[in-house]
Amino acid sequence: MEHYNIAIDGPASAGKSTIAKKIAARLGLIYLDTGAMYRVLTLAGIRGKLNLENESSLLDLLNETQISFDQSKGEQKVFLNGEDVTEAIRSLDVTQNVSLVSSHEKVRAEMVARQQKIAQDGGIVMDGRDIGTVVLPNADLKIYLVASAEERALRRYRESIEKGMDVSLDKLTEDMKARDHYDMNREASPLRKAEDAVELDSTKLSIDEVVETVLEMVEKDKN
Ligand code: C5P
Repeated sequence: MEHYNIAIDGPASAGKSTIAKKIAARLGLIYLDTGAMYRVLTLAGIRGKLNLENESSLLDLLNETQISFDQSKGEQKVFLNGEDVTEAIRSLDVTQNVSLVSSHEKVRAEMVARQQKIAQDGGIVMDGRDIGTVVLPNADLKIYLVASAEERALRRYRESIEKGMDVSLDKLTEDMKARDHYDMNREASPLRKAEDAVELDSTKLSIDEVVETVLEMVEKDKN
């Protein structure tokens, strides 16, 4: 499995990162949450009071921003210039602004370069919006993970409540749909299913069922 690459794309809250993490653990591959990278830049931009419409100032900021991950203690931690921002990048403010930040072409080019560099080290499971289409066009397996908008919003709602966040299901649903619309309609590498990706609908499946389905695909692909 040393050089096996899996790309997982799909709309918000389809379960991509949960599934990707578990598959990586089962197959002994690296896991990379590319959405977290765009979230770190968004957080840095908000903190620096940048105009997030301004591509060149965001690119300057990105060039001086180190984004790193640590998975050594079982859970994945995300760092902005060495500071643990794992929680901070999930805030409402970041979530509502990340699609704007990630719509800039030059920002995407730098992120993609960083992601491809990480993938050079060996087998990887990456999740995001442009993995199968742009970051890993030659991935061994491409999954396009979907679920109904209602189910995705409910999952996000339960997760937020568990974390003690004060959210309404209606607002979450509205924000999620707006983000998907933005991600699917931007000019720079919009979210879309790669031609050779397998679409998997997780609406009625448990996490374990999705993981097993993907592992079966890997098994079949290797034989
Ligand atoms: O995966 P997550 O929901 O954390 O991603 C946050 C946002 O980052 C997405 O809504 C999208 O705007 C952007 N993103 C992207 N390309 C990726 C991963 C995420 O544009 N590969």
